[in-house]
Amino acid sequence: MKKITLTLVDEAATIAMGKRLASITKNQQLSSLIVFLNGDLGAGKTTLTRGFVQGMGHVGNVKSPTYTLVEPYELDDYNVYHFDLYRLADPEELEFMGIRDYFASKCCCFIEWPEKGIGVLPKQDIIINLTYSDEQRLIELVAVTAVGEQIVNQL
Ligand code: ADP
Ligand code: MG
Repeated sequence: MKKITLTLVDEAATIAMGKRLASITKNQQLSSLIVFLNGDLGAGKTTLTRGFVQGMGHVGNVKSPTYTLVEPYELDDYNVYHFDLYRLADPEELEFMGIRDYFASKCCCFIEWPEKGIGVLPKQDIIINLTYSDEQRLIELVAVTAVGEQIVNQL
């Protein structure tokens, strides 16, 4: 298990970190990547994912999937799925949405509030913990699998 903690001084730094994760994922030609995002409201989970989605080649808006639970991006190399499970009442709802099909493809999944989907979500490769540090943020990345380590080792 490999762990790294970095300071993100402002929103731009959080976006840049997301883009960096995207470029490592592409360079390493990883098959699928599952990232769990932990942190209080406003800690930067959506901002980080926005950077990742843009780094994977999406041009345009990256809106928070608070009401839709998931926002899909079908990009050149990967299907990227941004989940926000904050409003999920029951993990079974994810089954009804056909979530298994998402994970079957070559995909990158960034999942906010993953604890709401326990039992249905696949195993995470990386756990990201975002915390407030005065006006800034701290990001802790914990690699749980070999795929996760391939990424964290490049940071
Ligand atoms: P979450 O999805 O965790 O609820 P958001 O990404 O929606 O959080 O919101 C994070 C807020 O904090 C945004 O207003 C953003 O501008 C700001 N922010 C993001 N990263 C940083 C940072 N590194 N330092 C300070 N503010 C940040
Ligand atoms: Mg969010």
